[in-house]
Amino acid sequence: MVSKIMENVGSVLEQIRAAALRAGRDPAEVTLVVVTKTRTVAEIEEALAAGIRHLGENRVQELRTKAPLLQAHQPTWHLIGTLQTNKVKQALEWAELIHSLDRVSLLEELAKQAERRGCPCDALVEVNVSGEQSKQGLAPADLEPFLRLVAQQRWVRVRGLMTMAPLVDDPEQARPYFRRLRELRDQVQALGLEGVSMEHLSMGMSGDYIVGVEEGATLVRVGTAIFGPRD
Ligand SMILES: *Cc1c(COP(=O)(O)O)cnc(C)c1O
Repeated sequence: MVSKIMENVGSVLEQIRAAALRAGRDPAEVTLVVVTKTRTVAEIEEALAAGIRHLGENRVQELRTKAPLLQAHQPTWHLIGTLQTNKVKQALEWAELIHSLDRVSLLEELAKQAERRGCPCDALVEVNVSGEQSKQGLAPADLEPFLRLVAQQRWVRVRGLMTMAPLVDDPEQARPYFRRLRELRDQVQALGLEGVSMEHLSMGMSGDYIVGVEEGATLVRVGTAIFGPRD
């Protein structure tokens, strides 16, 4: 039997594919990260049964609770929410990609814990392209100096950029922010910094992932469109 969740996975994947083709991109460049915050293990297993391999949690505590219960499926976990330095050690036990690197103190702690583990850590730098006060992320102007610090150490490898667009009614309104992130990626790439690669753009959630893909997203983070509204 095909459940509603499995059906939703199928239609989101189809939308991603169509958006990629519209933009002249290879759909295989885009990975759907299913956002599992507040969802039960049973719900998440339905998404896994539909072929999903990448899961995203925004809180370390929730990640630590669920990840061991889903280990048999060997998903790739993404930590997408704000990360406190005192949770870094636990986060690295499960998350293969941190989407929310946004400050020097976090870079330092990630580097320290990664070195302790003897395993380099992959992260995306979160950028606040809208400039909204409520949003996490580095200001675009702070990106280059930050990445020069990244280039001076070897335990944290930056693999791209992440952003959250403002909440808008019309997904088209998110487009300029996603475009801006792509332009920043191109500028960073031109710097040719050691330890900094730009293969990933993490942008787009349930309301705007189609626009995200059209603008170059390689990772979209989608929860509600798959599981329904959160309580
Ligand atoms: C919750 C969350 C998402 C997914 O939001 P939906 O609107 O449910 O798709 C994406 N990114 C981050 C950082 C989140 O916290």
